[in-house]
Amino acid sequence: MNSLIENYNRIKNSLPEHVTLIAVSKTQPAEAVQAIYDMGQRSFGENKVQELTAKYQLLPKDIEWHLIGHLQSNKVKYIAPFVHLIHSVDSLSLLQTINKEGAKNNRIISCLLQFHIATEDTKFGLNKEEAVQLLSNQQFAEMKWVKICGVMGMATFTDDTELVAHEFAHLSEIFNFLKKDFFSNSDDFNIISMGMSDDYELAIAQGSNMVRLGTSIFGERNYAK
Ligand SMILES: *Cc1c(COP(=O)(O)O)cnc(C)c1O
Repeated sequence: MNSLIENYNRIKNSLPEHVTLIAVSKTQPAEAVQAIYDMGQRSFGENKVQELTAKYQLLPKDIEWHLIGHLQSNKVKYIAPFVHLIHSVDSLSLLQTINKEGAKNNRIISCLLQFHIATEDTKFGLNKEEAVQLLSNQQFAEMKWVKICGVMGMATFTDDTELVAHEFAHLSEIFNFLKKDFFSNSDDFNIISMGMSDDYELAIAQGSNMVRLGTSIFGERNYAK
């Protein structure tokens, strides 16, 4: 626990004021979350719906829970009543489901569009053209229970810092483009969620204002547990 609190304080004090820290607590026990909560942290991130809802039930209700991992439409209903921000919207159909569940819960659900910026082949994330299509769609225009608050992305897992910086710069460009063309009248569109334990300094240098840190706070994850 001591190193946990040291890690947290060191990181918290090193971040510029405009950067929001999401403590990524996936695989970590509720006690570890509580320890950081007791230091004043309120924003936590999980990548799995089941773990997110389990921790929501166990832990203080003023925690702001962020869903940062891939989200399947059939699981939206479990988090819709309480989730603070969904970072991983990558299709119109997922957004439709979130909108429907928002209506059922009588709450507007905040979302980020996830972009595929890495050279690695993953299934998840939009490209710029796909985002333009989504945001131009009449069905999107009619959604009353979702709010798009910005963008999220993950860089390639590599030691090549130039490549990583380039990928983050690309996401910042996408953000600026969407802001100008689709959200120029919306103060809500203001989040660039990029940067994890190994690359958050590079991400901040490229314009990130929300970093998602797990290992650098909690230590290595033990997936065997
Ligand atoms: C696990 C995870 C993180 C945190 O990763 P660390 O390297 O432990 O900081 C951030 N974002 C997403 C989407 C994750 O799944």
